Amino acid sequence: MNKRTFLKNTAVLGAGGLILPHVHLFANENSFSNADDSVFKQNELGYAFNALEPNIDATTMEIHYTKHHSAYTKNLNTMVKENNVAEKDIIKIFKGISKLPVGIRNNGGGFYNHNLFWEIMAPNAGGEPSGELAKAIDRDLGSFSKFKEDFSKAASTRFGSGWAWLIVNNKKLAISSTPNQDNPWMDVAEVKGTPIFAIDVWEHAYYLKYQNRRADYIGAFWNVVNWKRVGENYQKALV
Ligand code: MN
Repeated sequence: MNKRTFLKNTAVLGAGGLILPHVHLFANENSFSNADDSVFKQNELGYAFNALEPNIDATTMEIHYTKHHSAYTKNLNTMVKENNVAEKDIIKIFKGISKLPVGIRNNGGGFYNHNLFWEIMAPNAGGEPSGELAKAIDRDLGSFSKFKEDFSKAASTRFGSGWAWLIVNNKKLAISSTPNQDNPWMDVAEVKGTPIFAIDVWEHAYYLKYQNRRADYIGAFWNVVNWKRVGENYQKALV
């Protein structure tokens, strides 16, 4: 048996709950943690690290995806195993997150929030939403320009690290923000709902290019919003 096959078999046995002494020999290797049997996986980025230049620089994107998001995902997979969390639907986990260790809240949020963040951005994007989403923004949030202003304010005034959100709650749109890696699915969130759009305002999301100028990063972010995807998220959230 070669090493690759051995690791794969070991991982399967480990997930099945058998205690084997040699499991621990490999538990700290990247090849084990990123094994294909991980329950939670990072979404493909869908574009190159430099695709959002000059609004978001390539180095920030690469570190953000391959280090920060990767670590949240890896830690989440480890922690659900360690705590015998059998639930594989992250949203169901969030709905009872207050009863689980804080590490699952932080890393689970980090895993889910970034998967949403990557998909609501795209190269050659920006502009304004259209269709049902555009109508709903006018209806529930005043107008697109008022929405931009209020969402930017939620993002810029979030103290420390966190996120700003566009959510659907009772079929209506609302803006909210959360600290750390919390999100609106969590039972601990002040404002709950289905997130369809978000901005990461942790310093790791902008500091290399914008340093302390969070407002400049938020301003540039509007140039890379994938409104087509946000519109699809809105439709799904209504069901
Ligand atoms: Mn981040």
